[in-house]
Amino acid sequence: MQSRVALVLVSHSRPLAEGLLRMLQQVAGDLPMAIAAGVGEGGQDLGTDATAILAALEHLDNPAGILLLVDLGSALLSAETALQLAESSLLGRVQICPAPFVEGAIAAAVAAAGGLELTAVCSAARTALDSKMQALRGDDTTAAGAATADHKTIRSTPEADEDWESLELQLQDPAGLHLRPAAALLRLAAEGESPTFLARNDLAERIPLDSLSGLLSLSLRQGDRLHLYTRGPHAQQRLAAMATLLTRETPSPLAPATSSPRTAVPGTAVAPVYALRQSPVTLPVSPAVDPEAELAALREAIRAVEKESADDEILAAQRLFLQDSALLGAAERGIRERGLSAAQAWLEAATEIEQRLAAIPDPTLRARRADLLDLRNRVLQGLGVSLPWQVPDLPSFILLADELPPSVARRLDPARVLGVLDRRGGQNSHAAILLRAAGIPYLVGIGAQPIADGTLLAMDAGQGRFWLHPSPEEVQQLQGRQATLAATPASFGLLSCQDGSTLEFWANISSRAEAEAAARLDVRGVGLLRSEFLFLDARAAPTEAAQEASFRNLFAPLQGRPIVVRLLDAGADKALPFLQLPKETNPALGLRGIRALERRPEFLHQHLRAILRAGAGHDLRLLLPMVTAPAEVTRFRAVLREIHQQLTAENLPHPWPVAVGIMVEVPAVALDIDAFIAVTDFFSLGTNDLGQYTAALDREQTDLPELEASSRAALLELCARTVQQGKRPVSVCGEAAADPAMAREFLRIGLRRLSLAPARLPALYVNLQAECGTGREAQARAKT
Ligand code: PEP
Ligand code: MG
Repeated sequence: MQSRVALVLVSHSRPLAEGLLRMLQQVAGDLPMAIAAGVGEGGQDLGTDATAILAALEHLDNPAGILLLVDLGSALLSAETALQLAESSLLGRVQICPAPFVEGAIAAAVAAAGGLELTAVCSAARTALDSKMQALRGDDTTAAGAATADHKTIRSTPEADEDWESLELQLQDPAGLHLRPAAALLRLAAEGESPTFLARNDLAERIPLDSLSGLLSLSLRQGDRLHLYTRGPHAQQRLAAMATLLTRETPSPLAPATSSPRTAVPGTAVAPVYALRQSPVTLPVSPAVDPEAELAALREAIRAVEKESADDEILAAQRLFLQDSALLGAAERGIRERGLSAAQAWLEAATEIEQRLAAIPDPTLRARRADLLDLRNRVLQGLGVSLPWQVPDLPSFILLADELPPSVARRLDPARVLGVLDRRGGQNSHAAILLRAAGIPYLVGIGAQPIADGTLLAMDAGQGRFWLHPSPEEVQQLQGRQATLAATPASFGLLSCQDGSTLEFWANISSRAEAEAAARLDVRGVGLLRSEFLFLDARAAPTEAAQEASFRNLFAPLQGRPIVVRLLDAGADKALPFLQLPKETNPALGLRGIRALERRPEFLHQHLRAILRAGAGHDLRLLLPMVTAPAEVTRFRAVLREIHQQLTAENLPHPWPVAVGIMVEVPAVALDIDAFIAVTDFFSLGTNDLGQYTAALDREQTDLPELEASSRAALLELCARTVQQGKRPVSVCGEAAADPAMAREFLRIGLRRLSLAPARLPALYVNLQAECGTGREAQARAKT
């Protein structure tokens, strides 16, 4: 990325500087910035410290220069002292700015993000009080006039010169032009080689788009007609991107700006980014309608959507909404009692439920909102309302979504869509499952920052990062990483470590596509087959034959490799209606995993028979979820023996004996691990649940990263105890196995078997190979 001026905020108050920094991050994204604020332990007392300022300068050590913004009196003295202490190589690149602290910092951040050089950034900051002073004179027009006088008002018409491109539009945002879009507009303007000018309504004055205060001082309101002018290469595209920004009707209720990007499907991509859009739903108010005809039309449209979803595992999940009486009842009442058309009634009913879902704090439930919106629109389309999703028709691009609907995810062509950025989205959403299968890199939770259509973007989803306007060096670096991943070999099963040990990689799978990917990567085996994913959409208990067919289908590509099948782990977030488990106030601590299976013996019998029969000819192993006590395993072994005797009596082939392992995901098990040695053949560390039960922190909770980080040592301690029993093999199958930092911790405590999603394996392998590998695999591969 082209190097940009960095900022250091020097304040007497640490909370003040931290708050301001957060505001700046909203307008300037990843601009290099630091604070030097407060004195005493953790900066808790008021004051400034020259050595802290110097440390911030040295830490940033920014080639494009560093601007120091200071608050009151002695802050300036401390800043000057810091400069006296600094090395001469740093000195030439640092400037103290005589600007108002808050307004100046914001103007400086915008100017720096737009690529202006140090002196220009400082002068943008110095004039930052203008807009407030002008506004307090109480007259918008004067204010604009005054601002434009300061900022090179152009009174000649640029369009008189035929070089200029112009565009007229109406500002849509009900809040007028506020801080974030204004900052985004200036960033777009700064991309051009020639200046961009803006004029309002009467065209009397045009201001160059190079100053935040100048722009804000226009006090642009919803409905204002704006004229934009620019010229030079890509002038039209830049204007179009600005128009997109300014004509957005309402700011979308996006993820909080504090959210940080998370990997949903690893991979890298570099391409222009374009947003996924859908025509807004506006229905004409219909004159009198025939309620019976409208009801029939609604039912027909719903039936058609149900039929369309029947053969599709993912879309089938959405169908649950179509059986929701709250939704259907409200729509039908709208038609019967209020004379609405089918489309109006359906839109109202679905929107009301969608808004209720949006307000739910549980992220898993909230994620269903995307399914509902998608479904709502498909039924509307069935009723003749046209609102297709507009996937850009371009040869290669990165797609930006507010929350990628599964029905769009499934039709994205990996040859054209090089990656997807999602402002919200979830790592375990249906869209993520589909993109994983299609091999499209997917980054979720990127938040609300403005990204204009056509902006060049680089993403490294595996590392949870993306860059707007990447520099040629950054693109090259990313392509290098991609090439390393692509050049890495077909086999990812083993890694010889420098200490002479061997690290084994196994796969976590839950679909046929993942089984195939696991085989392609040549993993040692399947360390976790999550059987519940086969049943998530089932309304009725699947028959033994149906289960057997599903398992056979998954096992087929894995011939010759050990397959660890985990018995159905129902309960908590994976509520399966057909098991009819009682409603619990705290389901994560209730009937989950083996506890639920023991209460449904008939299902357990069928389930086990199906797995064993499908496992004939395979190296099958069984894994029990949510075990808490050795007695649960002993009872299970008795059931397993009974099923073996039945199948033998019926002459039905199945593997025997079968190893039985347990998930270590309840802290009580790890703490008393020796008590389980006699009843189990292997242990599998389920760090997702073990972590949540150790820290009393919901695994779906993303707002408390600090607690998650600080409880990591306790989690590792429980893992270490499990390894130290020393008598039974141990693997890790929680998501932490795919995190390079955690994987290194696992190696440190003696674990040598990691099981993870195939999509995440190559990146982890390459990462660990660089640090712990001996290079023997590469040599062996070179010979073959
Ligand atoms: C775990 O808890 O770490 C685990 C692998 O199981 P799941 O994520 O399916 O609960
Ligand atoms: Mg678990």
